[in-house]
Amino acid sequence: MKKSMKKRVLKFGGTSMGSAQAMIQSAFVSASRKADVVVVSATSGTTNLLIELGSVAEKQNEPEREKIVQTISQKHLNLSEELKLSVSAKTRVKTLVDELEALSKGILLVRDCSLKAMDSLMSLGERLSSAIFEEVLQKAFGPSRKVQWLDARSVIRTDSSFSKARPLMTESQSSSDQILHFDQDQVYVTQGFIGSTLQNETTTLGRGGSDYSAALFAELVKAEVCEIWTDVPGIATTDPRICKEARAIPEITFQEASELATFGAKVLHPATLLPAIRHNIPVYVANTFAPEVGGTWVQKDSKDLPLVRAVAIRKKQSLVTLTTPEMLQAHGFLFQIFKIFNDFKTSIDAITTSEISVSMTVEDSILQQKSLIEELSKIADVSIESNLSLVSLIGNKINHTPGLAKQIFEVIPDINVRMICLGASKHNFCFLVKDESGEDCVRRLHQKFVEGKSI
Ligand code: ADP
Ligand code: ASP
Ligand code: MG
Repeated sequence: MKKSMKKRVLKFGGTSMGSAQAMIQSAFVSASRKADVVVVSATSGTTNLLIELGSVAEKQNEPEREKIVQTISQKHLNLSEELKLSVSAKTRVKTLVDELEALSKGILLVRDCSLKAMDSLMSLGERLSSAIFEEVLQKAFGPSRKVQWLDARSVIRTDSSFSKARPLMTESQSSSDQILHFDQDQVYVTQGFIGSTLQNETTTLGRGGSDYSAALFAELVKAEVCEIWTDVPGIATTDPRICKEARAIPEITFQEASELATFGAKVLHPATLLPAIRHNIPVYVANTFAPEVGGTWVQKDSKDLPLVRAVAIRKKQSLVTLTTPEMLQAHGFLFQIFKIFNDFKTSIDAITTSEISVSMTVEDSILQQKSLIEELSKIADVSIESNLSLVSLIGNKINHTPGLAKQIFEVIPDINVRMICLGASKHNFCFLVKDESGEDCVRRLHQKFVEGKSI
């Protein structure tokens, strides 16, 4: 029997599910870290393919639909072969492949891929990977632990905001209490990213949402740790794909890591730390393919609280500026703006105001909702600039450090800064630049503030 009563939740991302070898390695990590709940993503690239599948099916492009179904099916059937799954496991995979065919055909026939249909389609990515992974995991654990496949949709109950559903914690807790039992040392393997409404309709938590699922499971089973296993050795001082000098951070506070995730570090879904903060559950981020090198501990406190911990970037942002003389010495204008954004369930990332105008940043994709702009145009003149990047410095006491802004802008004297946000958070200083200058800004700021080199 296990020594500890406290549970350990581990999550493996797309690359960690991406090949037979990667699955074997992920299973090895799960067993050596004594996992109790293992949450998995779809195999790498599959969610993107499923989204494309929905879109071609809706356009009644039958040859493309068939091609994508074939690609996804073959990939998973090949994995099942390579991993020498039992006949019953292969049958389960085949049933999911059949569902993929039927669902995409249905979308094609009705020429409609609603967000609801898209969520059902996307759910197949995680359902397929977890169906394959179950036996790989059982082999790694051996006979002493019973690996059990769990449909995450029976536990993670959500509202019906398809494509970005919000978990209903009271309902999820009661499902979890009814369904999850560890009396025989079970190890549950389940899907990240997906949930279901109280009417049992499939939902998803937003792109990259498997991290969030893992943290939700950790909260539900009152875990002692939530481990996020990915393709980099922890949270780094910036995206290692942008800057090769990026270094893994050994320890970071919940607040800093939340800001980092919200302001663009893809390594964690922005909502991941909400459950962890609620229950003070430490989150460990590490590399599946090099577990021995260690990773990042995200926790309540840290011994080291540097002024600048990391640099983040969010690309493809738009700056929406609303101008109206009616704002002069009037009240209620901001309320009207926020109400419109609220009605459209759209979040604003950064905001600045002047006497007669308000500027705010949103994702470029949000502006595809023409009716949002129409509503805003009823209360003010609207101007939009797109293809911008929000660059952020994340750290501590950022809003109480004299001269920091001067030092930042000295590093980028030749780059036009469109908007600056400082003051609201002691952990964040962010500004907007054109997309094409964004990565250059990140490298220069990293060099100056993280590597400590003069430019
Ligand atoms: P997974 O499929 O395991 O969830 P993701 O691709 O979602 O993996 O997240 C890991 C990626 O996040 C890394 O490969 C890295 O390029 C990117 N990333 C962006 N910012 C950071 C950062 N500050 N630290 C580490 N990785 C980062
Ligand atoms: N498979 C989902 C995605 O690609 C969720 C995840 O991987 O976290 O967005
Ligand atoms: Mg991810």
